[in-house]
Amino acid sequence: MKKTNILGVYVDKITYEEAVEKIMKMLNEPGNHAVYTPNSEIILMAYKDEEFCDILNSADLLTADGIGVVHAAKIVKNPVPERVAGFDISCGVLDEVSRTGHRVFLFGGKPGVAEMAMETLKDEYPLMNIVGVRDGYFAPEDSDAIVDEINATGADLVFVCLGAPKQEKWIFENRDKLNCHVMMGVGGTIDVLAGTAERAPDIWCDMGFEWLYRLFKQPSRFFRMMALPKFALTVIFKGRKFSQGDDE
Ligand code: UDP
Repeated sequence: MKKTNILGVYVDKITYEEAVEKIMKMLNEPGNHAVYTPNSEIILMAYKDEEFCDILNSADLLTADGIGVVHAAKIVKNPVPERVAGFDISCGVLDEVSRTGHRVFLFGGKPGVAEMAMETLKDEYPLMNIVGVRDGYFAPEDSDAIVDEINATGADLVFVCLGAPKQEKWIFENRDKLNCHVMMGVGGTIDVLAGTAERAPDIWCDMGFEWLYRLFKQPSRFFRMMALPKFALTVIFKGRKFSQGDDE
């Protein structure tokens, strides 16, 4: 599959529909697959942390989550077809698995949040096969017990919502022990599903101002959002150097 190199992170050049289709295919293939959805902040983290960059590049699918990544791909002259947000592909895949019967595990968020997300999903999809939920606050030594808990449910698809880079690192460290087919690192998706966080209305997303909406709603994100201008400047000054020689 074709990829674009954004500061060393190889993001798949894929549409929303292709991404959902690919994840559904992974669910029926042997072995397990990691799906991450890097935004500007995550790519900037990877730029500063080589180990994290390798973890992202070990994924089976990396989608361009956020208008910043879409613009960055244009700047390095290897554009992605569109923005493919983690929340959107999560909803697309959940819609599909509500019909196929694949077993879903929701892992992450503050205590009670995954249960709320499950209730919302069950209201919308009464036949959805949610086999387990677990909050995302745990001691490192509890990881093996969490893997056992997930494996005991026979889950096919695990949403790992611990925020970046924790979720990607957790998936990377535990993927060989997990028997599921797909692990998706999709951060705040669990909060939106639970109704404890709100997604920006479509018009803000379509105009590329989701970040501004989130800033209005959660001013405490201000310092995290400083990553956006830093990311833009780094791509403008260093982006082409990274992508030179890559296949278009
Ligand atoms: N989270 C978690 N465990 C942690 C840290 C965070 O489960 O140790 C959860 C947090 O409660 C939230 C989710 O991870 O539900 C994503 O957080 P963030 O706001 O960073 O998500 P993003 O904006 O990256 O989607």
